[in-house]
Amino acid sequence: MNTKTILKGALAIVLGASLVGCGSSSSSSSSDGSKTYVIATDKTFSPFEMTDKKGNLIGIDMDLIRAIAKDQKFKIKINSLGFDAACTALESGEADGVISGMTITDERKKKYDFSDQYFQSGVSMAVAKNSKIKNYKDLKGKTVVAKTSTAGLSFAQSIQKKYGFKIRVVEESSLMYQTVNSGEAVACFEDTPVLKYMIGQGQVNFKLASKNEDPCYYGFAVKKGENKTLLSKFNKGLAKLKKNGQYKKILAKYE
Ligand code: GLN
Repeated sequence: MNTKTILKGALAIVLGASLVGCGSSSSSSSSDGSKTYVIATDKTFSPFEMTDKKGNLIGIDMDLIRAIAKDQKFKIKINSLGFDAACTALESGEADGVISGMTITDERKKKYDFSDQYFQSGVSMAVAKNSKIKNYKDLKGKTVVAKTSTAGLSFAQSIQKKYGFKIRVVEESSLMYQTVNSGEAVACFEDTPVLKYMIGQGQVNFKLASKNEDPCYYGFAVKKGENKTLLSKFNKGLAKLKKNGQYKKILAKYE
């Protein structure tokens, strides 16, 4: 083999490798045979996903998926995209799974397969601490805020007509809180554990102004009919973490 042939061969390998990288499937295999799954998540949805002072992604979802991946021996790459963007990434095949405090709903079950539930949740209305809004009736003619594609938005929409308020829709939870702080909206609709955590940590100067609505559970999602393997690994790992006490420890870290 002369140098030219060797170079041609090398080029073919490089080209081949890059073509594989461009495939529509998001997961990739490494030389030791273990798969790397792309997992999409929200930007800030405390205490499920958030960044610490050093910029590391932490939170219940992050700890859970990392512990499950370690236990079930698969690799992950986490993409922190925002909730709606994470769902879009899952649908387009750019992500293999979404862990993002995602509510398991019948509507979503048409598009996604969900893991076993891993957290109990629901939606609440929160208002600024000094607000006079005490209940949904006080919302008449006012503007509330909710986040795109979320259970919080669906709940707000479900009672909108009855109570006669307007809804502003934003992309991120942090923006939603800002909108209430600035007075552009009098209330936000967000998952109860998130609001409780944010209030408890003093990260927002809010109070809850409703009961826990639409009780639900969170699940890890993959695209319907695809990635059965990843889903069963998730379920196996979750069951193990629940049995060996690691699941409880993760939750306790973020109380
Ligand atoms: N639990 C809510 C939902 O699934 C919100 C999730 C989120 O904002 N990350 O719609």
